Amino acid sequence: MDLRIGHGYDVHALAEGLPLVIGGVELSHTKGCVAHSDGDVAIHAICDALLGALALGDIGKLFPDTSDEFKGIDSKILLRRVCDVIESEGYSISNVDCTIAMQRPKLRPHIDTMRSVLASVMGLDVSRVSVKATTTERLGFEGREEGVSTHAVVLLIK
Ligand code: MG
Repeated sequence: MDLRIGHGYDVHALAEGLPLVIGGVELSHTKGCVAHSDGDVAIHAICDALLGALALGDIGKLFPDTSDEFKGIDSKILLRRVCDVIESEGYSISNVDCTIAMQRPKLRPHIDTMRSVLASVMGLDVSRVSVKATTTERLGFEGREEGVSTHAVVLLIK
């Protein structure tokens, strides 16, 4: 059995009046992520963890932010494409764990929806997909509500 672990990290700046999409779920908020795609920071971190596990680079390499094809794209499409790459290499995903750092809005009410959306995109049982949220106690860019970050870890099995 071949096991591969991968880590991903992503950050997006927040700006007034933009849609906020995290973990495949659109949240009601006054600010959203500045991005070429829909700015789904959680999905981007998960994609980078999946690619990192197989040393395949990162999502910027697969989906360049200079390409019109990816302008405003739903990041769930990117995640599905990354899963296709992982599967084409003969690996399956054992589990995914991610932590979203954001001061506001409170993410807890949306966590289970995010888990089920992400699980369905990746073709996994929801028990294999963990989404956690934390504030940074008002410290740093997340705490000042200037941005949002996500760390993700995945385990792949062949
Ligand atoms: Mg990103």
